[in-house]
Amino acid sequence: MRLVLVGPPGAGKGTQAVRLAERLDVPHISSGDLFRANLRDKTELGLAAQRYMDAGELVPDEVTVGMLRERLAEDDVEKGFILDGFPRTAAQADALDELLRDAGNELDAVVSLEVGEDVLVQRLLARGRTDDTEDVIRRRQEVYREETAPLLEHYAEQLVTVNAVGEVAEITDRIVDVLGPR
Ligand code: AMP
Repeated sequence: MRLVLVGPPGAGKGTQAVRLAERLDVPHISSGDLFRANLRDKTELGLAAQRYMDAGELVPDEVTVGMLRERLAEDDVEKGFILDGFPRTAAQADALDELLRDAGNELDAVVSLEVGEDVLVQRLLARGRTDDTEDVIRRRQEVYREETAPLLEHYAEQLVTVNAVGEVAEITDRIVDVLGPR
């Protein structure tokens, strides 16, 4: 199963991706987690990404695509993946299309997690990550609307939408249901 989760910051992509990865037995690949791991290890890539992350801006596409290309070349990805937080721009989606095409694969579905904006801000403020200050949260929402939301059209054919308000387990069930038997 090859899945992409999309949704605004706070929609629960990370939470659902972890649960789906377990249910579907495929690796969970989070671009944000990869950046944070690089930051923790003080790699060159991590240091290059830091100022963008702190400001709620997107890390430049070349850096992000390079990092994902490496991750998607690892052996565990052969059985599929759940992508969380990537792609976030049209250029990243094009790069992913090309990677998949070269490997003779395609996405099974793109799952859009739908949540109203007031719920999002509440969730993010409760999460307390260092980039979860109100200004940065607002900026990330804006970046989502401008850069990432247009991808829903790019993926019109594979897109399934799920109401992502409610209990965590219930939302996972909704996603699994909408994916159907595959
Ligand atoms: P996340 O954990 O998905 O909220 O990502 C945290 C931060 O990492 C974002 O605010 C961006 O600065 C950066 N980031 C994560 N994924 C991407 C991506 N696909 N493209 C560019 N920047 C990203």
